[in-house]
Order: sequence, then structure tokens, then C-alpha cells
Amino acid sequence: MKIFKRFFFLVAAIGLIVAPVVAFFDNYAIEAVSIGIGRTSGQQTSASTIIVDISQASVQFPSALMFSIKATSELPITDVRLHFTVERDGFVKVVTEEKCEVDFVGTDNYFQASYFWNMYYTGGLPPGTKVNYWWTLTDNDWNRHVTDKQSVTFEDTRFSWNSKNEGKITLYWYSGSDIFAQSLLDAALNGLVTLEAHTGANLNRPVSVYIYNTQADMLGAMLFAQDWTGGAAYSAYGTIVININSANLEWGKRTLVHELAHVVTYQMTSNPYNSVPVWLNEGLSMYAEGALDAGFQIILVAALQNGNLFSVRSMSSPFSTDTNLSYLEYAQSYSLVDYLTSQYGQAKMVALLDTFCHGETYDGALLKTYGFDMDGLYDSWLSFAFQKYGVST
Ligand SMILES: [Zn+2]
Repeated sequence: MKIFKRFFFLVAAIGLIVAPVVAFFDNYAIEAVSIGIGRTSGQQTSASTIIVDISQASVQFPSALMFSIKATSELPITDVRLHFTVERDGFVKVVTEEKCEVDFVGTDNYFQASYFWNMYYTGGLPPGTKVNYWWTLTDNDWNRHVTDKQSVTFEDTRFSWNSKNEGKITLYWYSGSDIFAQSLLDAALNGLVTLEAHTGANLNRPVSVYIYNTQADMLGAMLFAQDWTGGAAYSAYGTIVININSANLEWGKRTLVHELAHVVTYQMTSNPYNSVPVWLNEGLSMYAEGALDAGFQIILVAALQNGNLFSVRSMSSPFSTDTNLSYLEYAQSYSLVDYLTSQYGQAKMVALLDTFCHGETYDGALLKTYGFDMDGLYDSWLSFAFQKYGVST
């Protein structure tokens, strides 16, 4: 049915899938652009001189970054290491270190080294991600030279992007008018206002939204996406990519708000111990979209009448892979958030999200905030839903 179309086009990629799919490599048009070329002075640990001529990183979107360095050294170089960090939310700062092959070029101890980061083996990065990098060069007398830190932005170089910024949202697009882009930005900002008014949830950190004009263009920005994917929220990066054009504008606005709400929920609750239950994460995103779509409502009412409902406990784990069953889970999740916000108010929802942020268990967070656990929530929600949708018990 048309009303459910969006779920075939939607995937929330909270993490990046790590799987080598080298066969896809040839399908991508790879363009390289050099960014961040520069001489670096760095730090030297002895009188022996190592002079860096060029240190640079080239973006091969969406699959690779090529780092290279050219330098001279008084003494033969024995070890070259590249270090890099990816800017994203995380509780542990990860510095990747790679030992590089050294090529000697000509005379005067002029040498070069490079490292090719093939993301088909590590998982990709969303567009706009900043990567910081530096080198450690060691000669045969153990003199070490550490270069200054440089950065490169992993841009989708296939398109000429326009941008618009308001509040914490920056929208990037390359096709369509300014009015088209503004209408999407307005939808996103209004979605945030509605979400905050009802649930207290709001953005703490900036979000970048990349609007692709076609499905093929958007899939070209992802390494391992299914061909039904219509958008993705890379919450830890604060990045959303989505396929919206004039033909699917209304779907696009709702889906953009849905994905944005996932980033808000992530920012409100991320902690090293636990993630929020799926029903709350999806329920908040469905709720942010606005009134429950009529198609979902029909499914919810039928399940209330037949008693074929999911328990809150079961919806704390990933939803069913059976699309028909997952529709009911999305509808029920919406209704649970509707119940909690309409009956207990915004302040309690803020308290619930804050409790999750401190790594509380699913039952523990509900008990602490509302005085009932997951089973208690199910029972009290059920009476609310029977009444709201006019189903007699
Ligand atoms: Zn979702």
C-alpha cells in the first residue's frame, strides 16, 4: 500500500556496517580531490634534521582516503607511521595508527610514504566527516619527528553543494530551488519545536542534512546500503542523508523529521552502558512526524480488537524483519509515546530520557520515572489505547 511505501525507503544507520563488499567497488564513480596539502613544521626530538615537504590527504568519496607524505632526512628513515582520528561522538577517543611502507626517491634522502584507507574493509563515513591526521617519522638513530596535526573533510565531491543554516541544522543540497531547500529546513525546524514542546527532547549539537535528488545519487554516497534505502541517520556523526525531490516532497519532510528525531534521541540519551529501547526511539521519531498516519491507525485498531499486540518488553529489541509485523510495532511505539506524553507530561519524558542517559536498565528507568516497569506500562497504556481508539474491551 502506498502509505507504507516509506518503510521500504528508510533505514536508520546508527552505526556503520563493517563488511568487505569489494564486488561493489567498480560500481562507484570515484573522484579524487586533494585537500589539506601543506608543509608542516612539527616537533623534532634531536638535532638531526627531518624536513617535511608535503603532507596531504585525498578524498575518494565514498570509499577511501589516501594519505601521503614527502620529506627529506639527514639520516636514513626506518619507520613512518600515520595516526588519524575521526570526529564523531564517542566515549573513547580512538587514534588509529598505521605503519607505512617507505619509498626512497632519488638522492639526498628524499623519501615518500603513503597509506590507503580502504573503507570497504572498515566501514564508510558519512559525507562531511572531519578526519584529523599526523605522522611520526623515525630515522636509524631513533630521532623522531612528529608532524603538526592536519585535517581533511570527507566531502561528497560528486556534486556542487549549496547550503543553508538555521539554528543547529545545516542543510546541503545540489538540485532544486532555494524555496525547495527552505521548505525542508522549515519542516526540520518545526519538527524540532514540536518534539521539544511535547517531549522536552532537543538537539544539543549541530546536525548536517544532505539532500540527494535521486535514489541512485544517494546510494552512491553509501558503501553497503540496500537499494530500497531512502535515508539514513548517522547519529554519532550528527549527519543525515536522504533522497528528497519535488516528486516525494511530503514523504521527504516527514522522513527528514523522523530521522532528525533519531539524532535528537541519540544526543539526549547516549551513554557507554546502554541504548534506549527500540519502542522509545522509534516512538519518539513517529511522534515527531505528527499525527499517526491513517494506515498505521487501522493496523493498530485491528490489533487492539484482536488482541494481537506486541509487549513493551519485546519491542525493546529490534523490530520484526517481517514488514507487516513491524508496521504494528511502529504504530504501537507511537501510541506508547503518545500515552506517556499526554498523560504524564513533558517533564516526565525529559526525566525518562535523562535516566536512560545515565545507563539505567529499561525497567529501572521506567520505575524511577513513572513508578511502573515495562509490563506495568503495557497494562496502563492498553486502557488508554482502548479508550482513545474507541475499542471496547
Ligand atoms: Zn526510525
